[in-house]
Amino acid sequence: MKIAFIGLGNMGGPMALNLRKAGHVLSAFDLSADACKKFATEGLPIVASAADAVAGAEVVISMLPASAHVEGLYLGGEGKPGLLEHIAPGTLVIDSSTIAAATSRKVADAAGKRGIAVIDAPVSGGTGGAIAGTLTFMVGGSAQDLERARPVLEKMGANIFHAGDAGAGQTAKICNNMLLGILMIGTSEALALGVANGLDPKVLSEIMRRSSGGNWALEKYNPMPGVMETSPASKNYAGGFGTDLMLKDLGLSQENATAVRAATPLGGMARNLYAAHSLAGHGALDFSSVIKLVQKAG
Ligand code: NAD
Repeated sequence: MKIAFIGLGNMGGPMALNLRKAGHVLSAFDLSADACKKFATEGLPIVASAADAVAGAEVVISMLPASAHVEGLYLGGEGKPGLLEHIAPGTLVIDSSTIAAATSRKVADAAGKRGIAVIDAPVSGGTGGAIAGTLTFMVGGSAQDLERARPVLEKMGANIFHAGDAGAGQTAKICNNMLLGILMIGTSEALALGVANGLDPKVLSEIMRRSSGGNWALEKYNPMPGVMETSPASKNYAGGFGTDLMLKDLGLSQENATAVRAATPLGGMARNLYAAHSLAGHGALDFSSVIKLVQKAG
């Protein structure tokens, strides 16, 4: 299958590589020359523009930072035409970025008018899951379009859920990430408390992992440097899932909560803590660096 892949960041690059490994014909593009260079050396065929990437593609996949990027790409703006004008009718678009559900619906509506099918398919599983091809996809759109996408999604992920109509994948994703953002702060507080009392963070992590406090952060993404060799914490919080991306997701969950009058007190507090962490200059670090807010300096 000929697949256009747009957005070769921490997630998109490894996802595109898995599709290429599975034998699909890729045509990839990113606005960042560095990202293009990095993945060209890993074997991805890079083209000069998003419009070039979608020429002749049966499936288009995007993995961009936020709503404005996705809306700008597909719908255009400020006098620039959107990519929908270059995508042939009958093509399937899979947007895996985490964005506002309303933006997903707006893009899907505009595409539908041109005979282009769109599903929102945000992911969970982090960069480790993107590399290993074990992501969880949360899909919004028609069941029929999901079935068209399934063989492609299966090459990048291990779990595929149909959350509901257009935008529903995004709603599921922000519920999950609100929980993750809260869990990471709670895990950080518990670890910092133990260490302040002289406990070994490796021993404490293992005790909590196998006790009632066990959670994904302790299983796969420990925020304390040196506890888990593979976690971003042990690589100076480089790569992974940026603090500013988590801040964006918590902003989306708070906007959504306001719209439906839901009570999300911990989600609101978590958003403010990640915002303070970002303001302190840590926006580009992995989100688990939020532990710095509660850890003794030095
Ligand atoms: P990233 O910032 O590493 O990568 C995004 C890439 O998109 C960048 O390389 C950027 O240059 C490119 N880009 C932006 N606008 C573009 C455009 N118009 N055309 C082409 N390229 C463009 O982000 P990421 O960590 O890969 O995350 C991507 C999405 O996945 C985000 O919505 C994020 O919330 C979500 N997500 C990330 C993780 C994670 O662990 N990193 C996990 C789950 C979901």
